[in-house]
Amino acid sequence: MSAVVKSQSGAPKGTPRPSPAALNAAAASFAALTDRLDYLSAEDVEQVRRAYRFADEAHLGQLRNSGEPYITHPIAVAAQCAEWKLDAQALMAALLHDAIEDCGVTKSELIERFGAPVAELVDGLTKLDKLRFNTREENQAESFRKMLLAMARDVRVILVKLADRTHNMRTLEDAPREKWARISRETLEIYAPIAHRLGLNQTYRELQDLSFRHLRPWRYAILAKAVAKARGRRRDLIQKVQQELEIAFAGAGMSVRIAGREKTLYSIYRKMEEKHLSFAQVTDIYGFRLIVPTVIACYTGLGILHQMYKPLPGKFKDHIAIAKLNGYQSLHTTLVGPAGVSVEFQLRTEAMHVVAESGVAAHWLYKAAEPSAATGDRLGTKWLQSLLDIQDETRDAAEFWDHVKVDLFPDAVYVFTPKSQILALPRGATVVDFAYAIHSNIGDHTSAARINGDQVPLRTELKNGDVVEVITAPVSTPNPAWLGFVRTGRARSKIRHYLKTLAHAESEGLGEKLLAQALRAEGLGNLPEDNEEHQQIWEKLLRFTGNRSRSELLTDIGLGKRIATIVAKRLMALLAERGEKPDALMLSRERFTAHEAVSQGAVTLDGSENSSVRFALCCRPIPDDPIVGYLGHGEGLVVHTDACGVGQRLRHKDSERFFAVEWADEPVRPFETGVVITVRNDKGVLARVAATLADAEADITHVEMADETPQDSTDLRFVIAVRDRTHLEAVLRAARRTPSVLAAARTVPAP
Ligand code: MN
Repeated sequence: MSAVVKSQSGAPKGTPRPSPAALNAAAASFAALTDRLDYLSAEDVEQVRRAYRFADEAHLGQLRNSGEPYITHPIAVAAQCAEWKLDAQALMAALLHDAIEDCGVTKSELIERFGAPVAELVDGLTKLDKLRFNTREENQAESFRKMLLAMARDVRVILVKLADRTHNMRTLEDAPREKWARISRETLEIYAPIAHRLGLNQTYRELQDLSFRHLRPWRYAILAKAVAKARGRRRDLIQKVQQELEIAFAGAGMSVRIAGREKTLYSIYRKMEEKHLSFAQVTDIYGFRLIVPTVIACYTGLGILHQMYKPLPGKFKDHIAIAKLNGYQSLHTTLVGPAGVSVEFQLRTEAMHVVAESGVAAHWLYKAAEPSAATGDRLGTKWLQSLLDIQDETRDAAEFWDHVKVDLFPDAVYVFTPKSQILALPRGATVVDFAYAIHSNIGDHTSAARINGDQVPLRTELKNGDVVEVITAPVSTPNPAWLGFVRTGRARSKIRHYLKTLAHAESEGLGEKLLAQALRAEGLGNLPEDNEEHQQIWEKLLRFTGNRSRSELLTDIGLGKRIATIVAKRLMALLAERGEKPDALMLSRERFTAHEAVSQGAVTLDGSENSSVRFALCCRPIPDDPIVGYLGHGEGLVVHTDACGVGQRLRHKDSERFFAVEWADEPVRPFETGVVITVRNDKGVLARVAATLADAEADITHVEMADETPQDSTDLRFVIAVRDRTHLEAVLRAARRTPSVLAAARTVPAP
């Protein structure tokens, strides 16, 4: 939301100036902000000050709804970010967040003045600002939230955005009343859940309460009054519990920080609504939060509590052993306190407390606070720890946040059409998937593509927020190679469909090869040509096979619908009727070489055969492997390794469908095969192995990991593209030399 009110409509910016008092107020609030920047270096503070001066200038003459100078808003947003101890870049972005949208400042100007990272953050915020969520489409809220998160390439963008929304909600009072409902609902449905998802629970509660207050002002006022009254009535009780706690913990020699805790008005309201309760029936309004020094102390403290008061059965929850999805950790228990009132207790360590209140922002809070003390133990949550691990490994901030985003939304990527329509695709989806997602006609005629204005290869994987433009040409057609990289079922099936119709032409060529091979085995050097001399022969043969034409017969053979050896035998019989004899020399040579590895009549494969030849996924043959070809029913030639168990079983059952095949001397493309790499579960091991494979020029086309188990080692299963066996051996040797790798081998097909 950018609540800009020009002081005079149409007046050039900068005039008239707000009152000196208002200017002083803004300057004073910036002074208050700098007071909070003591965690930054002097240079960083100077950078933030530069951003402030620029923003102040840019917003000059603009006023908030309250009549204050507009700059008070960016300052307040930056102050919230400073409370989370965000870095200087984020604070600068906070100060500049409305500059592009409201002041006509350009991105390139920001790059020049403040560097690309800050400009990117501001640009990200501006883009988010343009997204308007229509609250009528309630079921859209979830995907809208996801998209918003995913689009903000950098978590800092979301944090600044949440700070922005928080300040706007705090000052919603000043906005025109007719806007309250829309903005509050949007906050409740979009921004509060995002804060929750990121573990920013304090912000989450505040956003909910502020939304509730502006959506249902009367309800809110009545409830606030009731809570205040109840608080007064229970004051004695609360004090009594507090005293007893202090005594008990002191007696056990355990230090503890005790804080009273009150349910928010919104959560009381929700509970009343959902469970149809009156206010008096909502009992667990009060609670205590105990902050203790160590994890062990949480459990010891729990013991102390359970000795003091009787626990309510079924209310104990161990969120330390099993953290909530957003990283929250605590022990929860509800006890029957003095006068039979049930009171909820939460026990946690200081580290857990910071994470519980500030979630993802805890990352910066810790870095700023005590860098040396921020050990794994203290940080407490697995989630936060994993974030830090990733950063240790990569060090590159951009990559770090890419990983964080992967954690948030592992499956989806959100991209834009040139008309700003949002499309959700599975992660790893490419330009071709995008094209087919729009329309199969577009997919079928894709010839080139641009991402964010730059021409890219069609196999380029899409990233969140990409603007993708597909260029089509009427003469362009799907390429079988696309099947190697598309991720969506839709693209895959559309490409297959196209290729199937196309396959006939290719299958005819394969059929001709196969028939010629079968004829050589019968002692005939060449396939009888389609000429006058052999016309009768072909006619008789077609009558025998039931085909309409020579080309249809050859296609059928290529597709495996008809068996070449049978057709060849028939053809030989027809030729014999005419007195043509098989070539005895060729016959004996064929028989002699029939069991040799390289047979004269073998079909040669160089990888260019496309859809008429497939390489079996069970054994994934690569050049230099001894191979056999199986002519599947209607699916063309399938190539297995000689040793493949699947192939051998088929050969046993269906031997006449097997053909000799051999590799061409110079295959035209790499072939995919499977490898298993067993690794110790060390930090960043996947990245290291992937880098090794890339260095060895093996393209990774697929990777699978065994589920995380408590074991020390994991099998990483890759599908990689290699030139031949020599290349594969070199790749495996390189893998074995990689730190943390215990073993590396080619995948063995199931027997
Ligand atoms: Mn704003």
